[in-house]
Amino acid sequence: MSAYVPGLQPGPGQRLVKLNTNENPYPPSPRALKALRAAAGPRLRLYPDPACRELRERAAEVYGLDAAQVVPGNGSDELLAIVMRTFVDEGGAVAYFQPSYSLYPVLAAVARARVVELPLPRDATGLPVPRVQAGVFLLSTPNAPYGTGFSTAWIESLLASFPGIVVADEAYAEFADETSLPLLPRHPRLVIIRTLSKSYSLAGLRVGLAFAHPEVAAEMAKVKDSYNLDRPAQAAAAAALADQAHFRANRDRIRATRARFSARLTELGFAVPASQANFVFAATGTGMPAAREIYAGLLERRFLVRFFDRPGLDDGMRISIGTDDEMDALAGAIGDLVRR
Ligand code: PMP
Repeated sequence: MSAYVPGLQPGPGQRLVKLNTNENPYPPSPRALKALRAAAGPRLRLYPDPACRELRERAAEVYGLDAAQVVPGNGSDELLAIVMRTFVDEGGAVAYFQPSYSLYPVLAAVARARVVELPLPRDATGLPVPRVQAGVFLLSTPNAPYGTGFSTAWIESLLASFPGIVVADEAYAEFADETSLPLLPRHPRLVIIRTLSKSYSLAGLRVGLAFAHPEVAAEMAKVKDSYNLDRPAQAAAAAALADQAHFRANRDRIRATRARFSARLTELGFAVPASQANFVFAATGTGMPAAREIYAGLLERRFLVRFFDRPGLDDGMRISIGTDDEMDALAGAIGDLVRR
């Protein structure tokens, strides 16, 4: 099988403006860091709470759920793996759009599942709900790598026509206008997956949250590792969720920068699908240098963005939204490369 290929991580001493793996440019909540330090003490000799009660209760409060609907994971990647373990039998089928999160085919291969890959147009407005048979539908919304979102109404239609579990992989939903959260009370086959990696600036901590019907959540909890979240992660994640003011301020800044940067790219001649995430996909227009060359030119100037070297994606770059200063400098560098 082919392995998942993560975005490049710069080596020690390599000074790059890192805009390739959709991390948050702002630091985590000071309350989360304080909780982390407090947890890094003598109590580390004890196992963490296997049920992550405090974190689940805090998440339930923030998202208007019951704690029995929340399953924390070691990053949302682990939750995707848990969904597969729970709902996909050997030889079963998994459906997803192509392109979308490139981990999905890997998860399917590990599960020895068949895949149903559906083409996703770059402009998905008016896209009909696909008619497919599979155990699980993995829907990245907002979609990686284009950044466009599926509307709540579209997801509800998918739930009506698709017979299996619909996983709304909402890793970027905190930056979007709409989410599938309002559908949860009416749709027991919906599993929503969130992460604290992007919106709460905690990619290094590895905490994700699944929201589901209590019975579905209970099945998922059966197949997880008992101690999947360590003590410091549970404590810091709960504290980060409690600091909604910090989260909202950073989210709003990123959304404002996204609008400004998208407009700059459009002025430079790129086609930029309207992003609902903390990244944008910039496709080169006619007469421009190839995306591969712009990517290489940016790397020489110490900007690291994401280039997917495969048909259908190699005409563009996926660029994470950094600080205003970073994005202004990047837009300047892109402008120099494009105008040459
Ligand atoms: N889903 C999508 C669509 C993603 O892009 C990512 C980030 N690579 C993840 C899930 C996983 O995020 P994490 O494991 O950091 O929570």
